[in-house]
Amino acid sequence: MGSDCLFCRIVAGEIPATVVRATRNTLAFRDINPKAPVHVLVIPKEHYADVATLAQGDPALAGEVLATAAAIADDEGLLGDGFRLMFNTGAYGGQEVFHVHAHLLGGAPLGPMLA
Ligand code: 5GP
Repeated sequence: MGSDCLFCRIVAGEIPATVVRATRNTLAFRDINPKAPVHVLVIPKEHYADVATLAQGDPALAGEVLATAAAIADDEGLLGDGFRLMFNTGAYGGQEVFHVHAHLLGGAPLGPMLA
């Protein structure tokens, strides 16, 4: 996708981000506007618009995104108390950046999701 996509530009190093983990195929960085004490975005380096496109197009890569998120949850000490992992998808899902990203949220009680 390249220059039109904010997260492709972060992958390319053109826009700074606080990276917490990088693997061959994934990148994880702190959300610029955190909604919890820990708020990390986990993305595939390759551009997919949303989680449905990713899961249908490359299920193994979707699994790598989940594995990276779990590793960060461990690094950040979230496994004991728990955390939330979510993909906003499309207009009704409230997605604003159309490069698929998992939100990893934790570090405090988050309450019921649909409250
Ligand atoms: P969405 O609503 O698409 O699921 O979430 C997009 C997320 O990207 C938001 O939580 C927003 O704060 C975050 N975000 C937007 N622009 C940037 C940026 O330039 N850098 C970082 N690190 N996060 C961003």
